[in-house]
Amino acid sequence: MASTRPTRLNNKMWTKKILYIYWLMVIMAFLGQIIGLLVTIYYTPDYIGGFIIHKVIISSSIQVSILLITHYLINHKQIYSSRLLTISGTVLALVTIISHPTVSGLKILLLLAMAVVLIYFDKKKLRFSLVINLIALTSLYALPSIREAGTLYEYFSYHFVLLAGYMAYLIVIERGNEVFQFLQRAAEKEKELIVKSAMMERLSKIDALTGLYNHKTFHEYLDFLYDQSISQGMPLQLALLDIDNFKMINDFYGHSNGDIVLKRVADAISEQVTEDDIVARYGGEEFAILLTNKSLEEACETIESLRLYIANQNHEELNENITVSIGLKTLTEDISKELFFQRADQLLYKAKRSGKNQVMYKQEDSHLAVQET
Ligand code: GH3
Ligand code: MG
Ligand code: MG
Repeated sequence: MASTRPTRLNNKMWTKKILYIYWLMVIMAFLGQIIGLLVTIYYTPDYIGGFIIHKVIISSSIQVSILLITHYLINHKQIYSSRLLTISGTVLALVTIISHPTVSGLKILLLLAMAVVLIYFDKKKLRFSLVINLIALTSLYALPSIREAGTLYEYFSYHFVLLAGYMAYLIVIERGNEVFQFLQRAAEKEKELIVKSAMMERLSKIDALTGLYNHKTFHEYLDFLYDQSISQGMPLQLALLDIDNFKMINDFYGHSNGDIVLKRVADAISEQVTEDDIVARYGGEEFAILLTNKSLEEACETIESLRLYIANQNHEELNENITVSIGLKTLTEDISKELFFQRADQLLYKAKRSGKNQVMYKQEDSHLAVQET
C-alpha cells in the first residue's frame, strides 16, 4: 500500500499548499474579527477597547506567530512533517476558539484541523490528528471562560463529533486507497498489454526455430526494397538458398538433429551477410536473402563465401557436412517484382539440377562454383 501513497516530493508541494490555506484561514478569521468589532461598536461600544486588544490584536498576533514559525520550519528548515501541520492547525483553531468562548460552534474548527491530514491518505497520521484534537478539545475545558460558556453535555457532544468525523475520514482514506490500488492494477495491466503486444508483434515477424524473419515479413521487405530500388536506383539482389538433401538428413539423423542443423545454417547466414541485408526463412529448409547496396560482384562474393562457409561447417550431430544450393538474381529495371523472385527461384532450381552445392547467378551462364568445399 505504501507505494500508492503520495511520494515525498508530492508531500512537499501539498504541505506548502496547506500552509497557504492556513494563512487564508487566519486572514478570514481576522476579517471575521473586524465584523465582530463593527457589531461591538454598534451594540456594546464600552467594550471596544477590550475587543480590539483581546479578540483582534492578541488573537491575530498569536496566530500570525504560529504561522510564521510553521512557515520558517517548512520553508527554511525543510521540515515537511504531517505532525507539524497537524499541531499548528490545531493550535490555530484553539486560538480562535479561546478568543471567542461564547461562540460555541467554533469547536467544529478542530474537525477541520483534523481534515487536513486527509491529503496523506494515511490512517496512522489521521489517528495522530484525532489524538491531538481530542487532547486540545479536552484541555479547552480547563479554561473557566469556555466552561462557563457551555454545558457538560455540550462538552461530551464535541468529543463524539470528533470521533464521528474520524470515522468518516477513515472511510474516505479506505476508499482512496481502494481507488489507488485499482488505478495501480489498471496501470500494471496496461504495461503488461504493451509488453505482450510488442512480443506478439515480434512473434508475428520472426520464425520461431531460427529467429530469422518469416515468410510474411520477407515479402514485406521485398515489396519495400523493390519499390526503393526502382525509384532510387538502389542496387538489390535476391538470393534463394536451399539445403541440399535435407530430407535424407532428417530421415537418417532424426528430425530434432535436423532442427539443430537448420538453426546452425540460419545462424551462419546471419553472420556472413552484412547489416544492410535482410535474411528470412522462406520455407522449411529454404532461406531468402535480400542484399542491398552491393554491386553484383560484391553480392556474388558474399553469397559464394557463405556457401563455402556452410559447406565447411562442422555438425557434431551428423557424420557429414551440409551443403546448400543458391540462386542469386540481381534486380534490373525491366522486370516486375514477381519475375524478380521467379528468376531467383529458377536459378536455384538450375543450381540443384546442375549438381547442388553451388551458386547460380546468371540465367544463361552456368555457375560460380560446383561442389568445391
Ligand atoms: P533438395 O536437395 O532437392 O533440396 O532435397 P531436399 O531433401 O532438401 O528437399 P525436399 O524438398 O525433398 O525435402 C525438404 C525436407 O526438409 C523435408 C522436410 O522434412 C525438411 N524440413 C522442412 N522443414 C523442416 C524443419 O523445420 N525441421 C526439420 N528437421 N526438417 C524440416
Ligand atoms: Mg526445399
Ligand atoms: Mg532442400
